[in-house]
Amino acid sequence: MNIIIFGPPGAGKGTQAKYLVEKLNKFQISTGDMLREEIKKDSEIGKKILNNMNDGKFVDDEIVNKLLERIIFDPLKKNKLIFDGYPRTINQAKNLEILLNKSNQKIDYIFFLNVNKDAIIKRIEKRKVLEKRSDDDASTILKRYETYMEVTKPVLDYYANNENFHEIDGSMQINDISQKIEEKLRV
Ligand code: AMP
Repeated sequence: MNIIIFGPPGAGKGTQAKYLVEKLNKFQISTGDMLREEIKKDSEIGKKILNNMNDGKFVDDEIVNKLLERIIFDPLKKNKLIFDGYPRTINQAKNLEILLNKSNQKIDYIFFLNVNKDAIIKRIEKRKVLEKRSDDDASTILKRYETYMEVTKPVLDYYANNENFHEIDGSMQINDISQKIEEKLRV
């Protein structure tokens, strides 16, 4: 079973992905974490990634798609994928479909965590203190939200009619969101 956790920055995608990884014995595929690992290597590509991230912009599809390819074809992870922060563009959504088809896999559930802008800003401000992420400062948050509305929102429309699509109120408490997701997984 492969799952996409979808939603704006600060919606709680990472938290729910980690919960499902534990609960269902799966792998979290966080492109944000993968890109932060690249930055730590301080390579040329890492510097480019950091600039984009700190500007609240997306990293090039080409870079992200390449990182993802390795994981999708990893036999240990087959049908155990929890996507957190991917796909974020229509190009990525189409690329994911192609890679999954090629590896005889599919998406079984898409959970959209719906949270409004004010709640997101409050949450990310809290996260900045806890996680010390350089892209969590006030002006970058707004840019990230704008990027989401402009580039990622169309992906939501792309998935909204899919029979595996489920919208969840992401403003609820963490445990309640997890419970709602589990209810859908049981049906
Ligand atoms: P996240 O940890 O998912 O909030 O991602 C942090 C930042 O990493 C984003 O604001 C983007 O700059 C970059 N990023 C993460 N995932 C992607 C992706 N799928 N496509 C492009 N950029 C991404």
